[in-house]
Amino acid sequence: MGAYAGVDLGATHIRAVIGDETGSIVSSHKTETPRGPAGIAVTEAVLDAIRQACDAADIAPTDVVAAGIGSFGPMDLAEGVVENPANLPDTIDRIPLTGPVENLIGSERVSLHNDANAGVIGERFYSDRSPDDMVYLTISSGVGAGVAVDGNILSGWDGNAGEVGHLTIDPHGFMTCGCGHDGHWEAYCSGENIPRYATQLHREDPVETALPIETEEFSAADIFEYAGEDEFASHVLDQISHWNAIGVANIVHAYAPLVVYVGGAVALNNPEQVLQPIRDRLDDMVMSNIPDIQLTQFGDDVVVRGALASALTGGTGDPSQRI
Ligand SMILES: [Zn+2]
Repeated sequence: MGAYAGVDLGATHIRAVIGDETGSIVSSHKTETPRGPAGIAVTEAVLDAIRQACDAADIAPTDVVAAGIGSFGPMDLAEGVVENPANLPDTIDRIPLTGPVENLIGSERVSLHNDANAGVIGERFYSDRSPDDMVYLTISSGVGAGVAVDGNILSGWDGNAGEVGHLTIDPHGFMTCGCGHDGHWEAYCSGENIPRYATQLHREDPVETALPIETEEFSAADIFEYAGEDEFASHVLDQISHWNAIGVANIVHAYAPLVVYVGGAVALNNPEQVLQPIRDRLDDMVMSNIPDIQLTQFGDDVVVRGALASALTGGTGDPSQRI
């Protein structure tokens, strides 16, 4: 059997899978992402996850023909490393990835993508419907997109195409993004920023609410749960939906996708509350064809599947380009 490896390197977990030449997953290993002491510890954990997945598939790492990695960024694709990740401690400055994995499997066929790009590669390879023009949008601890146009996965300078979470959607800049700039999409709509945004809105207009807004001990999940019953939570969700729709409309105008697959914890945990308001608003915002807005069918697996699909297709996700 031809064996291929896929790795999902996330801020909390690392998952490695081994798949066969059809893309079926035959083994899997999951471990926690080390919080230090340095980036090399994360590299070692990735290598160990691949070794463990190989063990479970009863093969040696050198039996792996090609590997793909989907990771948080920012990354230096030329060097094959993640540099200064925002969501891990500061002592983790540089995480070497492609070089060490090449050494482990004894093959130079190792591709590295940011996680959203891995997501669109996964959708392209595994979806029943995989048009040449499609977007994978993740709404999670951040917001980002992987984009396929004319059958090409857009990578951009240093792999940073599709950083749509940093589109300016609010010219008034009510919220400041984790990147330091004002008015960016994910400053309003990511899982971590939704409670911050709600708190700011409440400071502007302190209406009554059942949310424990003063203590700030509430999460994005509470907003979704209270919406519909609590007037303030409903207002927050309405605002979030507004910003999400502006973001998706910008994506539609920029890339003309036939379908937008949406994943990430915020969307996966609240699919109808996130997706339907976007669908409802696009008519009033988009001048061109309106794509289908669909929840990813692959849940939390979309990135690791995309990494595996990248290994199988030379980084394209195109099922006809299997190596
Ligand atoms: Zn930003």
